[in-house]
Amino acid sequence: MVSLWQPCIDPAYVEGLRAFAAAHIAPEADAIDREDVYPTGLVKALAVAGYNAATTEPRYGGGGLGYGHAAAIFEEVSYASAAVGISLITIFQAQTILKLFGSDRLKIEYLPRFAEGLISSYALTEASHGSDIRSLDTKAVREGAGWTIRGEKSFITSGSGAEFFIILAETQAGISAFAVPGDTPGLSTYVGTNSATFGLRNGPHVNLVLDGVRLPEHALIGTDGKGIRQAVGTLNYSRTLAAAISIGIARAAFDGALAFAGNRRAFDKRVAEFQGIQWYFADMLSEIDAARLLVYRAARALDDGLETERYGSEAKLKAAAVATQVASQAVQICGAYGTMETAPFGRYLRDAKAYEIAGGSAEILRNTIGKYLLSHLGPAVQP
Ligand SMILES: Cc1cc2nc3c(=O)[nH]c(=O)nc-3n(C[C@H](O)[C@H](O)[C@H](O)COP(=O)(O)OP(=O)(O)OC[C@H]3O[C@@H](n4cnc5c(N)ncnc54)[C@H](O)[C@@H]3O)c2cc1C
Repeated sequence: MVSLWQPCIDPAYVEGLRAFAAAHIAPEADAIDREDVYPTGLVKALAVAGYNAATTEPRYGGGGLGYGHAAAIFEEVSYASAAVGISLITIFQAQTILKLFGSDRLKIEYLPRFAEGLISSYALTEASHGSDIRSLDTKAVREGAGWTIRGEKSFITSGSGAEFFIILAETQAGISAFAVPGDTPGLSTYVGTNSATFGLRNGPHVNLVLDGVRLPEHALIGTDGKGIRQAVGTLNYSRTLAAAISIGIARAAFDGALAFAGNRRAFDKRVAEFQGIQWYFADMLSEIDAARLLVYRAARALDDGLETERYGSEAKLKAAAVATQVASQAVQICGAYGTMETAPFGRYLRDAKAYEIAGGSAEILRNTIGKYLLSHLGPAVQP
């Protein structure tokens, strides 16, 4: 059967991705989710295939490709397993903040390692700070010729496999970002009560402890105190890629339900022949197509460097909601089969819902779009 999902970028590139995902990722998707393990082997294999540093400049060993290609990577990988998708997103996040704000020294030290398979996490959230990161309980203090960091982070995706961390901490100047190798003394992870989430399970979302971690001066990323601007700038990129993950989930749920409805018989008909069921599919297809176009529009915004906050937020808001709706509808269409633990629909639904929260909740995205609109409006004109 011809795919309903024609590539939005270079078809040969997407073909290669689909072949990789079908051969290597799809067979492991259920086990990764069920056992909640970090897929180290797959992530290293994706690096060898050139996907982990696809958008990094060739002088750092990357592919030098645009964000349309990155969106395709996340969409196709997540069609097979959203857990592998989020394993890649924390790797892209670290490269993005280093590329946008890091010193030449940090870029030279770390960027080439991502093409070789370096696994990283992005540690912002704390027990008392999720959406609101204007202040943090993790503190970085200048001591001697460097920094000392103390605090604890929670919900750290990929933390069980990470070899490198981007850590946000509060200094005297404000929120600041640091590049921290995983083997730095004083840095450790543990599995807390919050670590096992019901969706996006790529290993426990660990707690990260910084117990007097000593860093050299040059571990600071960009300007001291400008960490919120850096985090938001980086999120504009990762929100577009997160949206592509949601499209992958939605497509997988749709295809699975359509295949089921095309074979399952009730009242002497295939389930897909009932008009009520066809209307479900028509709505789902239209919603996925619309959200998918928005994701590739957001990818173009990243390439052009224009209106990235608007389109990244719109894409994630829309794609995450569509994925949840489609995954829920897919369960309904498949009846009891849809609810079986051995069927993938529960995983799609859990992954889709978790992405309405992780990486910027739907409410925060709406706030961002609202702020964009107010700035677009300009000051009020007195009648
Ligand atoms: C699967 C998963 C993976 C994650 N991975 C990471 C990671 O790798 N690194 C990391 O740093 N963090 C990670 N997080 C944490 C994630 O970024 C936060 O959960 C998210 O930012 C929301 O914060 P919170 O959960 O503390 O919710 P809160 O900020 O406590 O918000 C609670 C509710 O209030 C709403 N709300 C908050 N402020 C406003 C407002 N101003 N207006 C309207 N509504 C508002 C929220 O949208 C939400 O519905 C992950 C979370 C999940 C679920």
